[in-house]
This record gives sequence, C-alpha cells and structure tokens, in this order.
Amino acid sequence: MGAFAPASSRSRWSQNRCFSASALRYAAAKYPKVAALLIPEFRTSAITEITPDDLFKSSSLASAPGQPLEDELTKLYTRNPAAFVYAESDFYKLRKNTRVPEVCILGRSNVGKSSFLNALANRSSNGLAHVSSKAGKTRSINTYGFGPAPTIKQLQDQGSERKDEDIPTHTFHLVDMPGYGHASLKEWGKNIALYLKKRNFVKGAIVLIDAEVGPKDSDFHLLQLLSDAQLKTAIVMTKADKVRKGLEGLRETCTKVWDGIRAIEAQSTDGNWVWEKDVYVTAVGAKDSAVARSTLTTARLAVARLAGLVKDERLNVERNKRWSGKMISFDDLQYAS
Ligand code: GDP
Repeated sequence: MGAFAPASSRSRWSQNRCFSASALRYAAAKYPKVAALLIPEFRTSAITEITPDDLFKSSSLASAPGQPLEDELTKLYTRNPAAFVYAESDFYKLRKNTRVPEVCILGRSNVGKSSFLNALANRSSNGLAHVSSKAGKTRSINTYGFGPAPTIKQLQDQGSERKDEDIPTHTFHLVDMPGYGHASLKEWGKNIALYLKKRNFVKGAIVLIDAEVGPKDSDFHLLQLLSDAQLKTAIVMTKADKVRKGLEGLRETCTKVWDGIRAIEAQSTDGNWVWEKDVYVTAVGAKDSAVARSTLTTARLAVARLAGLVKDERLNVERNKRWSGKMISFDDLQYAS
C-alpha cells in the first residue's frame, strides 16, 4: 500500500479485504505523493506532479554538490534553534538589515502561516509562532531567525561596520506579515505595498494559499503587488491533507493560481517579475509522517532558494532585479556545538 496510506485505511485492510481496493484508491487520491506541482512556462503541457526526488534534482548545494540536500536543509532549519527576533506593527519602524537575507511570508488570515513557520523550525504548535483557530490574530510583523549566526570572518567579509543595525544572530530571517482577507485589506494593502517597494533587503516572498479553499481575489491583489514590486515569489499551497478531492483538487487550485498569475503577467509592462513555476505543497496536518516530512522538506527548499542559500540551476530564475545577495555555502555555516 505504500508509505502514503493513512493509518485508518491500513487497519481497514487487515480487518476486511473487501475494503482494500477502495481504501487504496482513497489513499492514493487523498494523500498524493506530490511535494510540488510544476506549471509549464507556456502552457503547452499539463500541470505535472513533482516528487521531492524530482525537485532536488534541479538544485545543488552552493559548495557541496552531491551531499544529501534534505539532511542539509534539516540541519539548517533545526540544528541551531530558530528564534523570534522582534515584532513591529509599523512598517516604517522595521529594523535595518543589510546583512542577512530576508524572506517574507504572506497569506490570508488563517491560511497556516504560523503552522508553516513552526513546521520549518520543527517546533510543536505555538513552539515558535502562535497558531490560532480564529482568523486575524497576527496583527504585527514578526521576524524570526533561522540557521546559525554568521561568523566574525563572514561579517568582516561583508565590509564596513554597520553601527546602525544589530549584529545578526542567524543565517536568514523569515518575516511573518499580518494576514489579510478581512476588513483591514485596504490599509493592509497600502502598508504591504510600501514594505515590498522600500524594503531593499527582502530577497523574496512566499505566498501561502489554502489548497482546499483556493485562491481569492485578495490573493491575486497581493500577487499583483508582488509583480509591481518585482519581488521573486514562490507559491506554497497549504493544508493539502484537507483537500477532499485529493490530487485533482490540488491541480484545480494550481490551475486557478496559474490563470490568475498569467492574467497579471499579461498586463505587466516590463515582464521582470519572477515567480517559481514549482508550486510547493504542504500538509502540516497530514497523519502520515512520510507525507508531512516530504512536503516540509520541499517547503524548506523553497525558502532556502528564495534566501539565496541553495543554488538554483533552473532556467530564468535569476531575472529578479533585486537578486544581488552573495551565496552563502552550507560549508561556511558554523553551528554551535
Ligand atoms: P495563520 O493565521 O495564517 O497564522 O494560520 P495558523 O497557522 O494559525 O493556522 C490556522 C488553522 O489552520 C489552525 O487551526 C491550524 O492548525 C490549521 N492548519 C494550518 N496548516 C495546516 C495544514 O497543513 N493542515 C491542516 N489540516 N490544518 C492546518
């Protein structure tokens, strides 16, 4: 039956063999082995499913090609505990940061941003970010640090002293933006547009979209802002374990996202916006640990790619105008023992 069958259908298999065929179909539909879906650049072929193995083939480590990427990613995200760095509700008061790559996480209220952060860091619910069953709880911009602190040598290599900013305590920052989708959208949109335009050190944006609910107008409004700001963007579909129609449902959501993005691109005058053709899938709530693990690894990969920590050999990924950060190799990271 394979690693992706839910426990409940396994026990049904042993109790009653008549159930096995339908249980198998149910398991295959509800727990797809996809970690990402690939949208072809020009829609000449159907959306294809990517397994973690496929996805890793297109990436190599900055300094150690051939090393198992999954292990390196796990180490990067968990060996030095991720930590809350600071919260700020005023976009104008965010701390200056020219030293470590910053990636922002955006999505509608309740889409699973906090769960995503906790999963990346391998923390339980509320272990790092606060998970809430009620929408609209996160009002402030919360910055979290991941990976080991840069060494003194790395800081020296970055050049002149920067007295007006903190010495970094982590390899990269994830900035959790307040969720949108409620009455506050207008004000939120204004602030986020400001952040995306003015924050020079943000390397990329992760946009979370609920795989079951699908993209809403507010999601496309955000994607438009990202296109205007020419900020490199990766889409992550959350809650894949809740999609009733399984893989078919995931594909439907993916197609809607694709159509919306194509419409935005068609209106864009400069065509410099880069968005990842791999739409990543997460299923934090999956009962099957293999599903949860493989989708988590690809989410870690998505963020590491945006932060510039993993060399990306796919075509057209370097078009982002803001993409200027120096590649930090995994070998250069020093972990506290
Ligand atoms: P936020 O408002 O975007 O930070 O969303 P939260 O992380 O607080 O999650 C909102 C709700 O969705 C919580 O009840 C989570 O337990 C649930 N949730 C988040 N991610 C997943 C997932 O991948 N699968 C399932 N089944 N539930 C999830």
